[in-house]
Amino acid sequence: MFTKFVDLIFPRACGLCGQKINQRYTCRKCLNILEYYQEKVVFYPKNGNYYDKLLCGFEYKSYIKNKMLQYKFENKRYLAKSFGDLLAYRLKQYNLCADLVVPVPIHYKRDLARGYNQSAYIAKFVGELIDIPVNKNILVKIKYNQKQSLLDVNSRKENVKNVYSVVKGNLVKDKKILLIDDIFTTGSTVNECSRVLKEAGAKEVIVATVLYGR
Ligand SMILES: [Zn+2]
Repeated sequence: MFTKFVDLIFPRACGLCGQKINQRYTCRKCLNILEYYQEKVVFYPKNGNYYDKLLCGFEYKSYIKNKMLQYKFENKRYLAKSFGDLLAYRLKQYNLCADLVVPVPIHYKRDLARGYNQSAYIAKFVGELIDIPVNKNILVKIKYNQKQSLLDVNSRKENVKNVYSVVKGNLVKDKKILLIDDIFTTGSTVNECSRVLKEAGAKEVIVATVLYGR
């Protein structure tokens, strides 16, 4: 009810191009552009990974790359809706479902500095659009480590070791978890998160990221 009321006063606009739209958060034109210029990016894991499936929505390049940079570093939070929409679109396209959506966490100190966890915010909209509950308090980051983007591939693996923890194991036990992050690069972070989720008893972990930028 509240959402509908808000929509009447402030009609929805596509987060990517600003055009007025009635439904969801990304307009048909932007979606078509992304679909046309991009390869579909879906991957399944090789041996040695803890997650069971991996889906990356779109390539980290051009137009959408700039939007992601604005989202992460220029505080354009409204873009979370468009990114959530794009990822939900891909998840539906490949019929991927789960019992619970869990975002990759950030350390509370970084959360305070940024004001929001970019992955959790995207996950909130993904959950809403695919109708699966979201819980951002199950998986937590317990150590304040170096930023992954500043490190090479090998150091990244070391850097994420034992920095995540599952605090409500009973909520993931025997569940199919959809683990959400913004960008997939080397995969060290999502793999380590998957490891602790599996250790806590998760039956299956599907990793879904909006972009892929290896
Ligand atoms: Zn648009």
